[in-house]
Amino acid sequence: MLWDLFSSMIPPIASDFVAGESPAEAIAHVREINRGGVGGIVNLLGEHYSERSPADADREEYCSLLADLGCGDVDGTISVKPSQIGLDVGETVFEDNLATIVERAEAEGVFCWIDMEDHTTTDATLDAYERHATETDSGVGACLQANLKRTPDDLERLAALPEKVRLVKGAYNPPPDVGYRDRDRVDEAYEDCLEFAFREFDGGIAVGSHDPRMIERAKELYDAYGTDFEIQMLMGVRTAAQFELASEGYDVNQYLPFGPKWLSYFYRRIRERKENALFALRAVAGS
Ligand code: FAD
Repeated sequence: MLWDLFSSMIPPIASDFVAGESPAEAIAHVREINRGGVGGIVNLLGEHYSERSPADADREEYCSLLADLGCGDVDGTISVKPSQIGLDVGETVFEDNLATIVERAEAEGVFCWIDMEDHTTTDATLDAYERHATETDSGVGACLQANLKRTPDDLERLAALPEKVRLVKGAYNPPPDVGYRDRDRVDEAYEDCLEFAFREFDGGIAVGSHDPRMIERAKELYDAYGTDFEIQMLMGVRTAAQFELASEGYDVNQYLPFGPKWLSYFYRRIRERKENALFALRAVAGS
């Protein structure tokens, strides 16, 4: 019975974390959060395609989404996963599809974020980002993960570029020679990266974290260095804080995934925090 509920539509508990199955629902959600001063970062769910056709299909979905976001009255960007547009098929497929998306984003005046996946993809992702950030006036941003030991070097490499970097703690568990798993060590690395970015970057920083301590630190660093920054959080996580920060005048953007492949993303959100699991159980029990 529960499965029927899950397979036929997005149930109310999941719709706290996912903005629907269709682009129209995602855009409607962006418009709704825009009313509270929060921008949208739209992500079509999908990753690790081993064949070209689904990667090309998602590229086309992004292009039509960009046309909707570019209509002028929506405050929204997109965020794309490299393995969704062909990185597992081959670097050239990824690069071709990314170039098409970035070109379309530029034409529509919409910013394009590139998500960062596991550490085996960092080089290809940053190379592609660097090319677009230097060769086009495209409005493109990359994501760096504080739990990777290489990130301070990557930050130095990217500091001279005109575009934005999103700093996150990292959602993947890197092997010990490549990264940190200890939460305190990751937090320490995140604070160091934040400080470096505020000191050295001109293009702007996105603080991709729900952590109140990191957000406070970003505010302090802004006071010290004056570097523009935005706060990015996921749909369904600390929603009240998102609107509160926006009402205080901070630039806040909500990452909102959508699409038919929502179930595994929803499970991931539920698994990663006890509070989310309890919330889901209460919602099911009460429905
Ligand atoms: P955590 O270290 O998980 O938690 C710190 C504190 O934040 C908690 O003690 C609590 O006070 C608060 N908090 C955290 N979660 C919740 C919650 N559910 N409810 C209430 N309070 C909470 N990772 C990647 O590897 N690649 C990406 O491209 C990427 N993109 C991202 C984009 C955005 C916009 C965001 C927000 C995250 C992204 N991530 C990405 C995920 C990121 O790496 C972290 O795994 C994730 O954000 C959890 O770390 P945290 O800094 O939010 O806080």
